[in-house]
Amino acid sequence: MPRLTHEEILHWLREEDPAALTTLFARADEVRRTHVGDEVHLRGLIEISSYCVRQCHYCGLRMARTMPRYRMTRDEILTAARSAVELGFGTVVLQSGEDFGIEAEWLAEVLRTIKNETPLAITLSLGERHSDELRLWRASGADRYLLRFETSDPALYAAIHPRRGVAVSDRVSLLRELRALGYEIGSGVMTGIPGQTHEMLTRDIELFEALDLDMVGIGPFLAHPDTPLGAPNAPTAGADQVPSSEWMVLKAVALTRLVCPEANLPSTTALATINTLDGREHGLESGANVFMPILTPAPYRQMYQIYPGKACIDEDATQCNTCLRERIERLGRTVGTGPGGRFTRTASHSLLALRSQPRFIPRNNSPSPLVVLS
Ligand code: SAH
Repeated sequence: MPRLTHEEILHWLREEDPAALTTLFARADEVRRTHVGDEVHLRGLIEISSYCVRQCHYCGLRMARTMPRYRMTRDEILTAARSAVELGFGTVVLQSGEDFGIEAEWLAEVLRTIKNETPLAITLSLGERHSDELRLWRASGADRYLLRFETSDPALYAAIHPRRGVAVSDRVSLLRELRALGYEIGSGVMTGIPGQTHEMLTRDIELFEALDLDMVGIGPFLAHPDTPLGAPNAPTAGADQVPSSEWMVLKAVALTRLVCPEANLPSTTALATINTLDGREHGLESGANVFMPILTPAPYRQMYQIYPGKACIDEDATQCNTCLRERIERLGRTVGTGPGGRFTRTASHSLLALRSQPRFIPRNNSPSPLVVLS
């Protein structure tokens, strides 16, 4: 069966007829069920530091902002990881600004301790770090790495994600490097960044497929008033601008499920922020299969303000866990158990290890999804 063409993806991103979109979401939901099942995995998000050396034009953690910052201690991180186990989560995600105060050896010891004490899978999301650090962390127990490329358009990327000194920021190369180091790799984009066109978002989705990503996070861009993209003089929408609406996120998630049928796709907190009532459910019904509840200790949460008004920030971890489980069960889905990694890749890895062959194999021959354009 043919894959989705560039024109088909573009067509769906521009589609606004709710009846037509219902068929897209239903197809994505079916592909999700076939390839990754009904389990919804819970990943406990621990925001370990709000320090950042970057000046990203979209992000509230950018270095230029004068505000109180924090870096969690070893014991605080371990306590949060243990609470993830108690709550029944299979994975913790350690996320931060790009903070070189998080020293490689120090974090390696924390990772080893989590691995020795718990059955948790560990995902890192610490920005663009050096190869040696990434290698050390992988050897110390990190399983996955999240690094959104934010946009595949080089000019837009350069405009919103200034390079640091002379070093080129090439997140796609870094993702390839992470995969070669043995990480499961996750990436993603925001929908509705000023200057983002439907053509660009189409190419983003094609890049998810080309990279054969294990995880893809997609959320709406939410303007932060203390950043260049949220300031009164921010660039205004041009022709073909992608909106940061809930519909647009759902379309992008659904199309991503169709091109990356085996990937783990979160229904993001940013999506829940623009529709606090049932945005999370809409994500799960459009192809997503992961939630990322916040496990960051209460005093730090307000200081990790990537964007304003983040959903569920005032709920403690136990309340949040109960609420998310109820939402999952109301949809007739089940809460995932265990690490919930990419099923096929993990299976391939062990098979290949047995045969001691190169680890990377192309996507299997399962029928690729076809969406009949209406
Ligand atoms: N320092 C890490 C983690 C950044 S936060 C890194 O750079 O990878 C994780 C994600 O939040 C970012 O990759 C970005 O896609 C998203 N994000 C940042 N600012 C945002 C905003 N204003 N609205 C919505 N999402 C945002």
